[in-house]
Amino acid sequence: MTTLLGCIADDFTGATDLAGLLARSGVKVSLRIGVPDTPPLDTAAFEVIALKCRTAPVAEAVAETRAALDWLKAAGARRFFWKYCSTFDSTAQGNIGAVAEGLMAALGTAQTIYCPAFPENGRSIFMGNLFVGEQPLAESPMKDHPLTPMRDSNLMRLLAPQVSKQVGLINRLCVARGVDAVKSELAALTAKDIAHVVVDAVANSDLSTIAHACRDMPLLTGGSALAMPLPQLYSDDGLLDLKAEQAHHVAPDAKTLVLSGSCSAMTNKQVASYLEMGVPSYQLDPLTLAKNGVNPVLEWLAEQDLTHAPLIYATTDPSNVKAAQVRLGVAQAGEIVEAALAACAVAARNSGARRFVVAGGESSGAVTQGLSVDALEIGPEIAPGVPWTFCESDGKRLALTLKSGNFGAESFFTDASTVLDSL
Ligand code: ADP
Repeated sequence: MTTLLGCIADDFTGATDLAGLLARSGVKVSLRIGVPDTPPLDTAAFEVIALKCRTAPVAEAVAETRAALDWLKAAGARRFFWKYCSTFDSTAQGNIGAVAEGLMAALGTAQTIYCPAFPENGRSIFMGNLFVGEQPLAESPMKDHPLTPMRDSNLMRLLAPQVSKQVGLINRLCVARGVDAVKSELAALTAKDIAHVVVDAVANSDLSTIAHACRDMPLLTGGSALAMPLPQLYSDDGLLDLKAEQAHHVAPDAKTLVLSGSCSAMTNKQVASYLEMGVPSYQLDPLTLAKNGVNPVLEWLAEQDLTHAPLIYATTDPSNVKAAQVRLGVAQAGEIVEAALAACAVAARNSGARRFVVAGGESSGAVTQGLSVDALEIGPEIAPGVPWTFCESDGKRLALTLKSGNFGAESFFTDASTVLDSL
């Protein structure tokens, strides 16, 4: 059907997170990896384009998002969503504001909102300040992020250097007064020529109020949770027949491969918990891979019974990661592991695996690229922000779940199978 909402996400697992929350309503959601080369055909009501522009130079990010916008416009979308991380992940050199201004210019709209809150995952905004759990952003572990160290928690101050127009705030007191109060405050800010409006939200009920008040704006910007109420709102407005647009999923064959390239604290726990169950496993080490290549793991894989959902993992603790990075260089260590994971995925698909559980954002990108997957249909959610997805690879129908490092419970790898088995 004609696309109602066109979404552009600044990274891959962020796109699956957004698509998963939209799909909670049961509606069909389609995710494209990069801007498709072909014009839109057979589009879903909710289309998400995953880009990889979070840390790209401003001009590059603006150009890529404009290309994504053009494709989504051609799909029929008249409302758009610019999705970034719920920890903002954007410094003074960042591109969130510049991309929003580029999209606003292309859409001829004078105002948008910024709401990265994701209360279920502990991200809230109060008086324009972003919190991670109970800590201000700039006191959270995000202050030491290798690419986007967040040294200020105030979203207005973070945004101001990224935009040419004025930045303002709709605070929690206004949001608590409800939909009409938010609408009239937006109008008051428009009269003062304020183009960029940060909006406070500390709970899902705030996000509902904001989505309700702003659902007809040509451009919304924020984290995934702000988009969650939109399918129901469009249905209430008569734009969408939620029943007719329900997605129906069929689980593919249960031959499974679990691939883990994330070294986050949560993934380490998930791998440990899966290993405790005695599943067949193979540990990848970047130094050994650099020396012996990928054949040993492929030979091991060829002998596995994929109905036991074996695990191939490079996941390890920070001291081992550091040691490999010192020997090989950060980029090289990462690339060697990613290439091995992708090769394993292709070999497993060729031997009949139809379900893939992948941990790690970059790792997921490498695996989908290896499998030549460029579009995903969003399925049921395994954990907040982590859905199963379905796709075609070499003419075979696969289920893939792509988990960003810190998401999911300790039992994620078994939770994933349980969700598909219960379809
Ligand atoms: P996350 O979502 O947790 O950030 P990613 O997959 O995005 O996970 O990033 C993890 C990076 O670490 C990848 O580039 C991966 O190849 C690399 N990596 C994985 N295991 C190791 C290891 N043992 N030593 C060095 N780098 C590793």
